[in-house]
Amino acid sequence: MIPASCAYHRAASVEEAIALLAEHGGEAKILAGGHSLVPAMKLRLNQPAVLIDIARIGSLRYIRQEGGHISIGAATTHNDIACSGLLAEHLPIFPQAADLIGDVQVRNRGTIGGSIAHADPAADWPAVLLATDAVVVVKSTDGIRNIPAADFFTGFYSTALVEGELITEVQIPLPPAGTRATYQKFMQPASRFAIVGCAVALTSNGGNCSHVRVAFTGVGDTAFRDYDVEQALQGKVLSADSVSAAVQLAAKDAVILGDHYATETYRGHLARVFLKRALQQVIA
Ligand code: FAD
Repeated sequence: MIPASCAYHRAASVEEAIALLAEHGGEAKILAGGHSLVPAMKLRLNQPAVLIDIARIGSLRYIRQEGGHISIGAATTHNDIACSGLLAEHLPIFPQAADLIGDVQVRNRGTIGGSIAHADPAADWPAVLLATDAVVVVKSTDGIRNIPAADFFTGFYSTALVEGELITEVQIPLPPAGTRATYQKFMQPASRFAIVGCAVALTSNGGNCSHVRVAFTGVGDTAFRDYDVEQALQGKVLSADSVSAAVQLAAKDAVILGDHYATETYRGHLARVFLKRALQQVIA
């Protein structure tokens, strides 16, 4: 299928992209890797009058350490993240999750900014960002906003972004010593989107859980932190019993999706299975 025709601008800088967004308002869409937007345009689910291409803005593509956090530019591809030595050293959950996204072509073109702006309920990054307490930095002609991941994903393909805003980077605090994190998913075999994905970041001191984050994607209409599971583990001695009790709470209060990939009951079961696998990984 061929998308409806539209105007195309290739922005050379963040400032130009933001100015174009302000000029064209709700008629414009940012084009990054195009791996979610272009299929939606071909299906006429999305028909922007103006495309603002940010894929060649070099200043949006980086992974660097700044003070107490690592910053990832919005136009950084999944493959850049999969291959990053800096992330492998400090936040290995990022390369691990990146490697599980789609296929080589998707990883080479798709970007972290595009993925989180699109907020597909089965996308991988939202769960990873929630579990690592990431902050999404957005810019517009009105200035800069820093949005915690916990406030960013607001619903089915919905985010806290407002008209005229461009995601410029994701900041992830460096985790305290003793933290281990992992992302485990049951994937759709063709696309590799998450039928259920579970990210866990856990800090343990002498066998006690001093800090824990648990986030799911694919389970409901948007990625979410599972506060019940976190509370069940916080401050506890990490044992087979405490893990088992926490696992029973997985997605307990979520409205679980049922579709042709997995019924609601099966997804609920997978949430428990993949939470258990993730906890076993970080505790091992
Ligand atoms: P685009 O398609 O260019 O844009 C997507 C949306 O985000 C658009 O609305 C656009 O306007 C907006 N946008 C883009 N960048 C910004 C920005 N900086 N600021 C504000 N808005 C912005 N994803 C997974 O998580 N896991 C998978 O296993 C997976 N498998 C896939 C398999 C296939 C075959 C395909 C085609 C895609 C798959 N994806 C998967 C999705 C893929 O990761 C996309 O790359 C991603 O969802 C969108 O990123 P993009 O850079 O291509 O964004």
